[in-house]
Formats: sequence, C-alpha cells, structure tokens
Amino acid sequence: MTSLWLASPRDIPTDPFEPGARYDEVVVGAGLTGLVTALLFARAGKRVAVIEARSVGAVATGNSTAKLSLLQGSQLQKIKAHTYQSIVQAYVDANRAGQQWMLDYASSRGIPVQRRDAVSYAGTPDGVAAVEREYRLARSAGLDVRLTDRVDLPFETFGAVVLPGQAQFDPLDVLAALAADVRELGGVIVDETRVVGVKASAPAEVRTTRGDVFGEHVHLTTGTPILDRGLYFAKLKPLRSYSASYTVPSEGSASLPEGMYLSVDAPSRSLRTAPGADGSSALIVGGNGHPVGRVSDTRALVDDLHAWTARHFPGAVPTHSWSAQDYETPHRVPFVGFLPRGRGRIYFASGYDKWGMTNAVQAALTLVGDLAGSTPEWAKVLHHRITLPAAIGSGIGANAATGWWALKGWASALAGPATDDLPVPPEGEGGIGRSGLRPTGTSTVAGRTCQVSAVCPHLGGVLSWNSAETSWDCPLHGSRFAPDGSLLEGPAVRDLRA
Ligand SMILES: Cc1cc2nc3c(=O)[nH]c(=O)nc-3n(C[C@H](O)[C@H](O)[C@H](O)COP(=O)(O)OP(=O)(O)OC[C@H]3O[C@@H](n4cnc5c(N)ncnc54)[C@H](O)[C@@H]3O)c2cc1C
Repeated sequence: MTSLWLASPRDIPTDPFEPGARYDEVVVGAGLTGLVTALLFARAGKRVAVIEARSVGAVATGNSTAKLSLLQGSQLQKIKAHTYQSIVQAYVDANRAGQQWMLDYASSRGIPVQRRDAVSYAGTPDGVAAVEREYRLARSAGLDVRLTDRVDLPFETFGAVVLPGQAQFDPLDVLAALAADVRELGGVIVDETRVVGVKASAPAEVRTTRGDVFGEHVHLTTGTPILDRGLYFAKLKPLRSYSASYTVPSEGSASLPEGMYLSVDAPSRSLRTAPGADGSSALIVGGNGHPVGRVSDTRALVDDLHAWTARHFPGAVPTHSWSAQDYETPHRVPFVGFLPRGRGRIYFASGYDKWGMTNAVQAALTLVGDLAGSTPEWAKVLHHRITLPAAIGSGIGANAATGWWALKGWASALAGPATDDLPVPPEGEGGIGRSGLRPTGTSTVAGRTCQVSAVCPHLGGVLSWNSAETSWDCPLHGSRFAPDGSLLEGPAVRDLRA
C-alpha cells in the first residue's frame, strides 16, 4: 500500500556514504524528527550526517495524516490520567513551540499549508464526557477551545470540542524542503544505509551496513529506538493504523467537511481533506488501529474503512490506502533525551502516540537545546516528570501482554503443521509452519513464493502475517519485514534469516 503523499514522486537528492567519515552530529533516520534535528544542528554550524535505512519519509512521516494541531483527540486527558497538570501544561507548551516552528518554517519555504479548525468529536453518547474533559483540560492549559453540538460531518455526532486555526499539509513537501536545507548547509543525507550498532566511544562509532562513521553525538530518530540500552523498546507500545484517500463526487449528497476531525471514542475515525493539483479536494479517512502483529486479518480493517466511508460519503472512490505505526509511552508523553549507558553521546526521541507533526519538532528543539545548554523551559519540566502509579501499571500491563504474545506465538507455531505439509499460500497470503523446532513463514506476493525464518531477530517473537501490507509483523515490539525477509521498520536491525 502506498500513501497519497508517497505516491507523488519528489526529487530528494541524497549523498554517497563515506566510510570512516567523522561528523559532529550523526542523526539516524530521515523522518520528520531526524531532518528537523539535522537542520537545527546544521544551522548551529555543526557538521551533520543523516543516515537513513530506507528513503526519506518512508516510514511513519510519509504515511501520516499530517495534522499539525494542538487539539489532539483526547490526548490531554490521557496524559493527565498518568501524570500531573504541570506535565499537561509543559506538553501543550512543547507542542505549541513545535507547531509554531513548523508554521514559520513552512511559510519561509513557501510550503503549502491549509489552516483548519481541529475538532475532537463524540461519535456516541458515551463520548460526551471525554469531549467535556478535553475541553476543560485544554482551556486550563491555555488553548482557546470551544464546545459545540454542531459538527459539519454527514453522520450523527454528540458534541465536540473545537480549536480554530490549526493546520495540515503534505508531509513530503516538508521533508523535501528540510532535506534540501540540510544539504545546502553542508550536511549529508545518506539513504539505503542501516545503522546496526553504536559504540559510545569518543567519538561514537556508528556501525552501518556500509561501514562505520563517527560522530561526537548520535541521535536515534528511528521511530522506536534501535539500541536496547535502557530497554525503551519495552516501554513503547507499537500501534498500527490505517488511512485511505477518496475522491468524492461534488454532486454527492454529502459535501466534504471543512475541518480536521478525530473521534474521542470507538470506533476511532480521523478525517481531513487534501487539496489536489486540479483544484479538487481528496477526503482522507483514518482509523481501525491495533497493536502491531496482533490482528489476524488486517485486510478486513482496510475494507471496513472503505465500507464506512462509502456509507457516509456516497460515491466516494478510494484512490490510495496505506497504514503506519507510531509508539505510545506509558504516560503518553514522548521520551526525548540521552540514552542510558550512552556516556552522553547517544540521544533518542520516540513515543509521539500519533502526534508527531508537533512532537517531532519539539523533540528536535529539545535534543539540540540540551546539547547547546539552552534547554527550553517546557523541556526541563518534561525531563523531570515523575512516573505515577497509573503509568507504571500501564507499562506492566503492556509487558504482560507482550509476554503472553511471545508464549502464544511459539506455542501455536510448535503445535502447528510442518512447513513441508502446508500448501503454497495463495496470492497475498502467508502462513506459519515449523521446520523441526524452528517456525518458518511462507508467503506468496506478486507471484513469488518466499520462505523465511518466522522468528524476529530482535527478541525472538514469532511473526504474524499482515495481509494488508503483505509483511511479517512482530507482535512483541513492532518490527516488520517484507515477504523476502528484509527489514522494514521497528527496533530490529537485521533481516530475517532465509
Ligand atoms: C496512521 C498515523 C497517522 C498519523 N497522523 C498524524 C497526524 O495527523 N498528526 C500528527 O501530528 N502526527 C501523526 N502521526 C504521527 C507521526 O506521523 C509520527 O509521529 C512521526 O511521523 C514520527 O516521525 P519520526 O521521524 O520520529 O519517525 P519516522 O518518520 O518513522 O522516521 C524514522 C526513520 O528512521 C529510519 N530508521 C529506522 N531504523 C533505522 C536504522 N537502524 N538505521 C537507519 N535508519 C533507520 C526509518 O527508515 C525512518 O525513515 C500519525 C501516525 C500514524 C501511524
């Protein structure tokens, strides 16, 4: 599946890999966090290299719905349930700084941005209390929200909180400009090069699939951190979600809604529009999220999104469908800072819980501010947050679920059929068998049948087949692999064994 944004080709030039090169700052990952971090360091006169495993924007950023908003569904009440009011305030301040930086940057670079109202709505009577809670928390944090019972959506809603003047854009427009600016200032961007390890020496040694480079500091802006120091992969919950874009006939009974919408209750639905080149607008609908690798029929979730949209927007024709994952922290506040046992040389940012357009920028401002000795006030508060029992409980619950999925995967693989007894999977399908005591995965995609080890090289989880994306996904910490075993994303750094 390819997102609306990645489907339109951009010219994003990159640089050759230079083995043994020495930089001030090595940034791992060319998503939004990595490229803003790289640009801020380059503007500060640092010699910067960005090392990207795939291509610019290939993972979460290029598959986002890219709403740049301070009203974020029911995010503030989730944070408040796990932390203090002072953290809620610092989170809003951090996101405000991120949003403002992005608006200023887009304006300075002529990147198209559409200003829109953000709307968090109740899709059921049960959601009304959440709308009211979000309203109160947002107001207490200084956001100029209002309550309304009139929402311009073509289905029944039960009240909403609205924040005017938020924004949306095409995330690839932003990444292309950032990459060009990093290179303009002398930074290098190397793609198709995976970092497989970092030694916290002086300078830090960054090991990649094409050789080593060196940096005074290394910034892991890789979605979930790729190094296991600090066990942050185990504190993050990988959540995958689906999006689709549609053309909707203008004479249809439902006109396109103006704002950017997110339901506060189930089923989660996100809506926005995107301007097309011909002056028309596409409708983007998202939802049906779940923990990575823990759903048996992901294609049904895409079909469900299409059916829901056809019901509410008659005549809507899907043009693109895609999916992506982001990471939730136990307290719903991103992790940004130094990696334990990294000797002050390794930093990371993760856990934006699907609100990375603002949080990636605040993370970049934090990483650069911390090293320059100019940490923003809100970042100081976020750095010193105390973990409440609710957040500890949520972390314990998540790890218990992970343990259960580890056992379940191995038990069903070992009790299942031998690989040799399995029929060749039909097109688009994959199945797990066993070769002796080793789970193997066999799939057929684009007429090619591949057999790979079905054991995740990160921590040994047994993979499950994702029929929507035709990939092997790990239910433990969210690593994903192509049918031929090559790594797509997640904390793993190696391909599957053949
Ligand atoms: C379905 C969905 C919808 C969303 N919608 C919104 C929205 O409307 N508004 C909003 O604010 N946020 C949204 N988000 C969240 C937002 O898209 C993400 O938080 C943000 O894009 C994360 O950016 P990033 O740079 O941290 O990660 P990424 O964009 O994933 O970039 C990380 C990069 O690191 C690279 N990498 C990984 N490992 C290695 C390695 N070992 N070596 C080298 N490179 C490596 C990857 O290939 C990748 O390119 C959404 C998320 C999802 C899943």
